[in-house]
This record gives sequence, structure tokens and C-alpha cells, in this order.
Amino acid sequence: MISEFDLIKRHFQRPTRHTELGVGDDAALIRATAGCELVVSTDMLIGGTHFLADDDPESLGWKVLAVSVSDLAAMGAVPKWALLAIALPQPREAFVAAFARGLFDCADAFGIDLVGGDTTRGPLNFCVTILGEVPQGGALRRGGARPDEDIWISGQPGRAALGLAQARGLTVLADDGRAECLAALRRPQPRLALGMALRGLASSAIDVSDGLLADLGHILERSGVGAIVDMTALPADGLARFCSDAELVRDSLLAGGDDYELIFTAAAERRAEVDGLAQRLGLPLTRIGRVTDEPAGSLSLREADSRLTIPVRRGYDHFAS
Ligand code: ADP
Ligand code: MG
Repeated sequence: MISEFDLIKRHFQRPTRHTELGVGDDAALIRATAGCELVVSTDMLIGGTHFLADDDPESLGWKVLAVSVSDLAAMGAVPKWALLAIALPQPREAFVAAFARGLFDCADAFGIDLVGGDTTRGPLNFCVTILGEVPQGGALRRGGARPDEDIWISGQPGRAALGLAQARGLTVLADDGRAECLAALRRPQPRLALGMALRGLASSAIDVSDGLLADLGHILERSGVGAIVDMTALPADGLARFCSDAELVRDSLLAGGDDYELIFTAAAERRAEVDGLAQRLGLPLTRIGRVTDEPAGSLSLREADSRLTIPVRRGYDHFAS
């Protein structure tokens, strides 16, 4: 059986780009850029909760790092270094090799050095800590939204939730949408370029991991404001083409997690700049509502017939039953 040390050396030790000393010593040495703040975040993926037992390990490797990159994107930061803690029931080398392939695909895509970690026996579990940089004072935060600002979302939220419904056998998506929704679920594309471009433009930002309304709710709470989301403005057309179940489409859009799109707020005078950014990045940016001066966290939906409704479900909560 392969030893812990051989496993690490064979699969997790790679040349680095911007690191003094990476995997192999008691700790890593990294050199931060003068004038920047370090941005740090950690995320855990647990078998059975965050992924299904038969998920392919290469996608898991991509996803565990991609969700961390997404957190840094939502801060307007540049990811540079990552640490990986893994627990495995048994050291199945084929599994580890595929996992590492996916992880380094993502690391290469976003210029990240894996600089350390821990490997131990236990119930299947991956934990990534990511470090990045942002120019001093330039980070995007959840707390900056102000009344009357616009609320925007990137991309096509809801596809990952439809992909999950397909993977669980709860729906059958149209042929042309199936691969796209499963890819959104298994290989999320963190919006790094967007996050960096939003520095100085957005007043607040968050990435959508638990659901559009749930994560927008975090901005509203932290900013002490409310919001009205316009149902007719949401980018739903793509989803409706793949799935004829209107309830599922609506729920995936509003409360589906795992999309890793960015929600952000910006002053109304800056609409043209946001539209220009969408052009430049080739990424749809959709204005979905408006910040209000209602009590912190209050959120209503403007339905197609102009009625205001209160959403029943905002998203996924690990501790709610
Ligand atoms: P120590 O016992 O001194 O903590 P370890 O034996 O845990 O050292 O790890 C040896 C080296 O391998 C360290 O540099 C550690 O950061 C790195 N490492 C361990 N597991 C992983 C992993 N899964 N991915 C990347 N680096 C790892
Ligand atoms: Mg250790």
C-alpha cells in the first residue's frame, strides 16, 4: 500500500509560480506583494452533503478549489496560494490521482500554487484554504449596498440546481441542456475576472453558493438595507428551454445553490459601465432589482403581474431541517 508521503509527493507536489517554499517542509513560505492585503478563506466539501458518493473524483478536485476561488472573486481578490487537507477512508491511488488532476487543472487555470496541506485517514472530506491578494482598501465587501442602487447578477444562475435535480433523477432535462447543467454543477467557473473588474465599481458583492435570494439576503443584512427583485428581469429564458417544470425552474433560479455566479450592487449612474464590462468579459450581467431603505434583510419579489410577494424559500441552509 502506498505511504502517505509517497501519495503527497506523487500527486500534490508540483513546481510553483510565486512561492518561496511549497509542499515538503514543515510549513510554506510565501511572499506577499507590497501594498496588498492578504485575503484568506476556507471551505470544506463532505461526502454525502456536498457531493454524491459516485461523483467523479476529477470533477471533485476541480470543484473543491473552484469554490474557494469563487470566494476570492467575490472579494475582488487575486487567488495565489492554496492548502489542501484531505481525509480518505483508504488511500485509493486511482481516486487520489484523478482528484489531483482536477485540482491542478483549476490551479493552472487561475494561477494558484498548492503550497501545503494535510493527509489523513477518515470519512471522505476535503478542505481547501485559499490565500490571495487585493490592493490595500480595494476589497469588495458584503456591507456596502445603499438604497436605490441596482442589484446585478452574472451568468445564468440556476443551472447547477437543475443539474443536481437531473443527477438525483428528479427531472429529465432536454438533451441540449443536460450537459450544460451538469457541467455547471460539477465544474463551476468562478467569476474571477469579473470580481477584479468590479473593484471601485460595485458597492458590495457576494458569490452565489447557497441560492440567489439567500446570498443576496447576506448583502442586505450586512448593509442594513432591503431589496425588491424583479421576477421578469431574472435571466430565466435559458433554464425554461431545458426544463418544462416551471416550479423547478423558479426554485432553481431563486434558491438553487452551487452556481458561483456573483451578485453585486452598484449605483444607477454606473449602469453603462456595468454593461460595458459585460461586453468586455463576454459574460451576461443582468440587472435584477433595486436596493430599498426597508429594514435590514427584507426582500420581496415583484411578480409578472406587478404584485409584491415574499419568497417562501431563499436557499440552502445546512442547519435548517
Ligand atoms: P507535518 O507532519 O510536519 O505536519 P506532513 O507529513 O503533514 O507534515 O506533511 C508533509 C508536507 O506535505 C507538508 O509540507 C504539508 O504541507 C504537505 N502536505 C500534506 N498533505 C498534503 C496535501 N494533501 N496536499 C498538499 N500538501 C500536503
Ligand atoms: Mg501534518
